[in-house]
Amino acid sequence: AEPADFRNEPHSDFSLASVRASMAEAIQSVRGRLGQSVSVPFAANRPPSGLPLVVRNPSRPDEILGTVSTVLPADLPAVMEGAKQRIGPWKDRPAAERVEIMRRAAALMKQRRYELAAWEVLEEGKPWREADADVAEAIDFLLFYARRMEQLGAPRRLGGEPGEANHLSYTARGIAAVIAPWNFPLAIPTGMVSAALVTGNVVLFKPSERAPIVGCLLGQILAEAGLPAGVLQVLPGGPDLGRALVQHPDSGIIAFTGSKNAGLWILGQAAQVGKGQRHVKRVIAEMGGKNAIIVDETADLDEAVSGVVASFTGYQGQKCSACSRVIVHEAVHDLFVQRLTDAVQAVTIGPPEDPGSRMGPMIDERALKTVREYVEIGRREGRVIVDRIMSGPGYFQGPVIVAEIRPGHRLAQEEIFGPVLAVMRASDFVQALDLANETDYALTGGVYSRSPKNLQLARERFDVGNLYINRPITGALVGRQPFGGHRLSGVGAKAGGDDYLLQFMTARVVSENT
Ligand code: GLU
Repeated sequence: AEPADFRNEPHSDFSLASVRASMAEAIQSVRGRLGQSVSVPFAANRPPSGLPLVVRNPSRPDEILGTVSTVLPADLPAVMEGAKQRIGPWKDRPAAERVEIMRRAAALMKQRRYELAAWEVLEEGKPWREADADVAEAIDFLLFYARRMEQLGAPRRLGGEPGEANHLSYTARGIAAVIAPWNFPLAIPTGMVSAALVTGNVVLFKPSERAPIVGCLLGQILAEAGLPAGVLQVLPGGPDLGRALVQHPDSGIIAFTGSKNAGLWILGQAAQVGKGQRHVKRVIAEMGGKNAIIVDETADLDEAVSGVVASFTGYQGQKCSACSRVIVHEAVHDLFVQRLTDAVQAVTIGPPEDPGSRMGPMIDERALKTVREYVEIGRREGRVIVDRIMSGPGYFQGPVIVAEIRPGHRLAQEEIFGPVLAVMRASDFVQALDLANETDYALTGGVYSRSPKNLQLARERFDVGNLYINRPITGALVGRQPFGGHRLSGVGAKAGGDDYLLQFMTARVVSENT
């Protein structure tokens, strides 16, 4: 079977009245069930000992969505004990059975598509289209990795010499700790968790404290799909729990998506060999970005403006793929900045329950505060030409554009994770590329140009993991645009690509004299 059979789950078409009605109904129905305490499939035979986490809607912080019980580092011995008992049976299941469970989980997500998206609207403040795309991507990960495991599951014969048989096969590593972010609350955890599970590992999954309900829903869906109890434990908890999972000698794989500092800390810790530990921990870390779009003097400015706006304001800029720098050729600089300024005035900001809102709230007060701090830094370093603020109660922040930023400025170097765009000038395309490459990160990048020569230069020298030409730079699709960066943007194979699963297994070769 070839992965060519894989097709991305289509996004919902909200221009259709019936689709809009289904989504509105789902939001209503989720709203009618708020305030419950969410239970997690926790393998230890006692309730977790942390305080319940109270989850609020970032558009209306008064609205309590639910409470989620949390796990403390003190619970880990019991968690690990449970996990260890499941390693053997799970890894010995035929790969085809694990694959089948992933497919059933994908089917369940399809059935519950609007409900899952509705939770993202309420818990993460995602506009409808962003929420819907996240659910579609989660389905993609399940089906893509299921298909890939079918290919990797059977031992492969190597070489053709007579008198010798060589077989290469892959085996699970053991226990995987998955530490997930909140910004793609279903897709990213589903990708990491399903990759670890389908390859035969037992999983300890810590959803972000900012997205615990959607994280728990993933656990429920996999359980319903037939995952044996205890093979996946969903462990809502704080950073202390994340640290304890990383440091535990029995964690064989740590799959992480989040900030650069947390990722580097994990890599450092993973090099320590704890008491009784007999393996080197494998770390897969997707970290930040400071992504640039270059607009040259030949670009279609209408396309460039709409692509930059989508890339820096989509989900309020809270994507590691988001555009946070635009580097503009001086010949079109002033005109481009003027059009961009006009375009962002038209972006609607408001509670994402309303399908008319193109931008919702920041995830929480801390995230909003960070943006406000960078606006102040921007005032000192450059010229703030747009700062659309909106009064609460939600944590709203509209687009911010800061002009005259140079490479030494903090606005040119630091990941903000908000809708803040630094505008930089370049006098030619080579200088623009140099500016684009002048950061610690190498995740996504974009070019708007109609010059074949410039586009060729960009293909050769724009040093990012995912380069997008004449289109927005977010929204990588599983299978078609495997996603991930290098330099300080992360280590490990691209998510949604052919190599990803290999990281979760060890390879063995058996050579037999025949
Ligand atoms: N894969 C997402 C995209 O292409 C970004 C993931 C992230 O923010 O971690 O937009």
